[in-house]
Amino acid sequence: MNNILDNEIKFLPGVGPRRADLLAKELNIHTFRDMMYTFPFRYVDRSRFYAVRDIDGTGVYVQLRGVIRSVKEVGAARAKRLIATFSDDTGTVDLIFFKGIKWVSEKLKAGSEYVVFGKPSFYNGSYNFVHPEVDSIDAEMNRTSSMIGIYSSTEKLQNAGITNKVFSKLQMNLSKLCAGKIQETMPQYILKAKSLCPLPEALFNIHFPQNIHALYAAQRRLKYEELFLLQLSLLKQKCVRMRENEGVVFKKVGDNFNYTYDHLSFPLTGAQKRVLKEIRADVVSGKQMNRLLQGDVGSGKTLVAILSALQAIDNGYQACIMAPTEVLAQQHFGSVSKFVDTEKIRVALLTGSTKPKEKKEIYERLENGTIDLVIGTHALIEDKVRFSSLGLAVIDEQHRFGVEQRSRLWSKSRIVPHILVMTATPIPRTLAMTLYGDLDVSVIDELPPGRKPVVTTQVTESKRQAVYDFMRKEIDSGRQVFVVYPLIKESEKLDYENLEAGYDAIKEEFKAPQYIVAVVHGKQTNENKAHDMKLFAEGRAHILVATSVIEVGVDVPNASVMVIESAERFGLSQLHQLRGRVGRGAEKSYCILMTGNKLSSESKERIAMMCQTTDGFELAEADLKMRGPGDFEGTRQSGLAIDLHIANLVKDSPMLEEARKDAQAILDSDPELKNPENTLLVRSLQGVEVDFKDYSKIS
Ligand code: ADP
Ligand code: MG
Repeated sequence: MNNILDNEIKFLPGVGPRRADLLAKELNIHTFRDMMYTFPFRYVDRSRFYAVRDIDGTGVYVQLRGVIRSVKEVGAARAKRLIATFSDDTGTVDLIFFKGIKWVSEKLKAGSEYVVFGKPSFYNGSYNFVHPEVDSIDAEMNRTSSMIGIYSSTEKLQNAGITNKVFSKLQMNLSKLCAGKIQETMPQYILKAKSLCPLPEALFNIHFPQNIHALYAAQRRLKYEELFLLQLSLLKQKCVRMRENEGVVFKKVGDNFNYTYDHLSFPLTGAQKRVLKEIRADVVSGKQMNRLLQGDVGSGKTLVAILSALQAIDNGYQACIMAPTEVLAQQHFGSVSKFVDTEKIRVALLTGSTKPKEKKEIYERLENGTIDLVIGTHALIEDKVRFSSLGLAVIDEQHRFGVEQRSRLWSKSRIVPHILVMTATPIPRTLAMTLYGDLDVSVIDELPPGRKPVVTTQVTESKRQAVYDFMRKEIDSGRQVFVVYPLIKESEKLDYENLEAGYDAIKEEFKAPQYIVAVVHGKQTNENKAHDMKLFAEGRAHILVATSVIEVGVDVPNASVMVIESAERFGLSQLHQLRGRVGRGAEKSYCILMTGNKLSSESKERIAMMCQTTDGFELAEADLKMRGPGDFEGTRQSGLAIDLHIANLVKDSPMLEEARKDAQAILDSDPELKNPENTLLVRSLQGVEVDFKDYSKIS
C-alpha cells in the first residue's frame, strides 16, 4: 500500500528542489513523514501580549501590540538595513530587517497598528527585533488558532527566507495534502485502553492546536506511541535472543574462584555480593547473559569482573576483559595478577603496543586454548583474534566503544559468550534499559567502607598561587596530585596549547629534582605515555598533568588531590568521573575546580552541584535534567543516542515505565505478535526496527 508520507519533500507545494535541499541539509527532512514528524519544540500563546517594558533577556518569543512610528532605511550597500520604530504604551523598540527591505517597507505603514512577534535581542544598550513577524491587526484577528508552534531553525534557513511563519505554512500545506490519508499505526484496542486520540488527529493538533487541551492530547498520544514501540521493539528482540542464543552453563564454582575469594584482604561489599549472585543466576540459566553492570567510580567493578571470569575458567572456558585505553588495560592486568592464582591461570595482555612477535603467540594460544584470560584494548577485536572457547566477555567503560566494535566480540568463538558490560556512568534503570538495548541491569550502589567524601571546592584563576601552595603541602606530606585539562574535539589545538602552557607553569613552580612532574596526553607515543603513567602509578612522580581523555579508570590510591582546569567546560558526569580518581586511599582527598571568573548560569549550577554532593546518581540525574539524554555522555559517540521525535526519556520516564509494562504484557500473551489485532503493531515496528538493527547486537 502506498503511503503518502513516503513522498519526497520536494513534491510538497511550496518546497521545490532548492528548499528541499536546504530542508534535507539543515533539518534532515527528506520525506513528507520527516516533515510531518518535525514537531514544534515550543508553543506560544498568541492570545497573550507583552508590554515593551516587560521584555527581558530570557530569550523567549514575545508578542507585542502597538504602532509603527517610523520606517527608515539606513546604511549603504551591504550594510543597508531597514529600521522600523515600534511602540506601545510602555516603551519603544526597533524592528530591524536586513533582507526583503523593499517588500517590508511597502508593507509597514507609519502610524498604523501592528502585532509583532519574535525573539528580542539585546544590542547597543537596548532591545530590538531582527526579522520579526509583523501582521496588521486585521490579519491577526483572522487567526484560527491562538497557539503557534515554534520550530527549530538554523541561520541558513532564516537567510533563505524560511522563517517560522513560512515553515508553519509548509506544515499546513502538508496537513491539507495528507488529510484523510494518514494511516493509523496503533491497534484500536490499545488506543481505547489508554484513551489515546487517533493518529491523524494527533498529527494535526501537534502542529496546529486549537487550545492547550488539544495539544496535550496530541502530545500524549504521540509520546506514548513512540515509547511503546521502542519498548516493544527492545523486548521483542530480547525474546528472540533468549530463544535463539543458548548460553553456556558454568556449572560449578571451582578452585580458582574460591582461591581468589578466600585470599581477598577485604570483605566484598553487600552490593558486590548481590551483583555476583545476579551474574551467577545468569550463567547457570542456560540462556546467554547480557548484563550491564553500573557502579560508581571506585565501587569495585573490576573485582566483580574478575570473579565472573574465574567462573568461566573453572568450567573450562576462556574469558576476556576489554578496556578502552592502554593504561586501563594495563591496570586491569595488574589487578588480575594481584587477585588470581597466576600459577594456575594463564593470563595475557594484548594491546596496540604488544610486540608483533608476542601478539602472534597470543593469537595462537587463544585459538588453541592455552590462554585462560586475556585483558586488552581494541586489539582484542581485531580480525586475527580467535578464541577456542570464549565463555565470558567483559567490556569495561562500555560507552567508550562503538556498538559495532562490541558486536565483533560475538564472532570470535564457536560458542556465544556471556556478556558483561560495565559502566561508571550511573543512569536511571529504565533509561539504561532503553539506551543499552535489551540488557539486564545490575547496580553496585555501595562504595567499599572507609571511603571519605572528596572535599570539593571551586577556585578562580586569581587564586592559582594558593592552589599551588596547597598542592605543595599535600605533596610534601607524601601525597600525589592530578592536574587535568579539558580536551574537546572542536578546540583541540587550543586545548593542547593550554595543557602545554599549564605543564610548563607547573614544572616552573615544582622544580626538578625535588619534584617530578609526569605528563600524559593523546599526542605522545604509546611508549612515552606508558612511561609517564607508570612513573605516577608507582609513586615516583608527584604530579600527573593529563588530558581528560587519557585517564578513565586509573587507580592510584595515593593520589589525594584532583585539580580540574577549566572545570566549567566539563559536563557533570565527566567531572564526577574525574573526581572519582581521588579518595580511593585512606587519606582525606580534595577536588579543586578551577574556573574562569564569569560563568554561564548553567556552568554555575553544575559547579555548585559538584561542590554539594559526591553521590553519582544524584549528579547523573541532575545532569540528565540539565542536558537531556541526547547529550548524555557517551550515548552519542557510541551510536546509542535514540532519536526520539517527541518523548523525552528523562522527563517522560513514568510514561516510559508504563509503556514498557504494556509492551511486556502484550508480548506475554502474544510473543510473536501473531494475533490479528496485533498485525498493525508488526507493521509499525518495522520502522522502529530499522533504527535498532545494530541494537540487538549491542553486546
Ligand atoms: P571501579 O568500579 O571504579 O572500576 P575498582 O574496581 O577500580 O573500581 O576498585 C577501586 C578500588 O577498590 C580498587 O583498588 C579495588 O581493589 C578496591 N576494592 C574493590 N572492592 C573492594 C571492597 N569490597 N573493599 C575494599 N576495597 C575494594
Ligand atoms: Mg573501573
